[in-house]
Amino acid sequence: MYDILIIGSGCAGLSAAVYASRARLNFAVIEKEYMGTGQIAFTEKVDNYLGYYGIDGFSLGEKFREHAESLGTEFIEGEVAGFEKSENGWNVILSDGNVFHAKAVIYAAGSHPKTLDISGEKEFSGKGVSYCALCDGAFFSEKTVVVIGGGDTALEDALYLSNLAEKVYLVHRRDKFRANRSLQEKISEAPNIRIIFNAVPVEILGSDSVNSIKIIQDNKEKILSTDGVFVAVGTVPNTESVKKIADLDSSGYIIAGENCITSAENFFAAGDVRTKNLRQVITAAADGANAVMSASCSIR
Ligand code: NAP
Repeated sequence: MYDILIIGSGCAGLSAAVYASRARLNFAVIEKEYMGTGQIAFTEKVDNYLGYYGIDGFSLGEKFREHAESLGTEFIEGEVAGFEKSENGWNVILSDGNVFHAKAVIYAAGSHPKTLDISGEKEFSGKGVSYCALCDGAFFSEKTVVVIGGGDTALEDALYLSNLAEKVYLVHRRDKFRANRSLQEKISEAPNIRIIFNAVPVEILGSDSVNSIKIIQDNKEKILSTDGVFVAVGTVPNTESVKKIADLDSSGYIIAGENCITSAENFFAAGDVRTKNLRQVITAAADGANAVMSASCSIR
């Protein structure tokens, strides 16, 4: 039996691994993706992680992983299907049928991109509709793209794409961005980004691939010709397997404070999956440390 099983190998999970190792706990990290480093890998540039300004997200994720590996972290590849309370902890059930046992679980499974749920989105997914500018941007060199959203991701994506595409429309449903000021300043300086405020996307159109998007602005329908639509409207926490055992908020985040303690005994939530004000790589790293501190106090 492990002392702790950490679910997820993103920043929060790997940070938990570092702290669990230093606490001399018997632990392992269960990861869905072999050699994964979580969402950070899909970020072009990280300017706000202390000490590593300007680093690309992939390299930062690799550094996190190297750090955990250097301390002898055991990684188990597999997707968690569910959890069962046992007499002295938790049974962690994987979708391949394997079951692992631990006194405590640190759940750090991250999030996935939210969809728009509009007509044409599913149909053209992979045919012009993308949720990852870094992965798919190169296909739109010298073309026109639309980015949907007003948060950090949308503005980062628009900036990244503005270096590849000829023209970028940034479509946001309100008249103010929620992204940080420094990104907003960069956006306003980019000559080929056109901001369209107060506009809601309603349909993605095309034949073999995307050729336009229908938006509603000031109660009027407009069609924007485009080769690609990058959806950056937020994330959904990966908490499906947890909903029967711990309390979630109305958006599906596991209710837990800075100590990462959830409503389930010896079950801790770290990183983007938990309720918090600021979802950043630095707060995910802090969660990993706090979760191990809470877990080690409760199992000893
Ligand atoms: P987010 O901050 O939740 O922003 C989502 C954006 O999409 C909002 O502007 C929202 O509009 C819009 N939106 C949501 N649903 C929509 C819909 N159905 N149709 C049209 N627009 C819709 O998500 P995010 O940008 O992915 O960021 C997630 C978290 O990661 C945040 O905490 C962010 O700070 C963090 N992050 C940080 C960095 C960084 O520090 N470098 C980079 C990326 C992400 P409203 O504004 O009207 O709600």
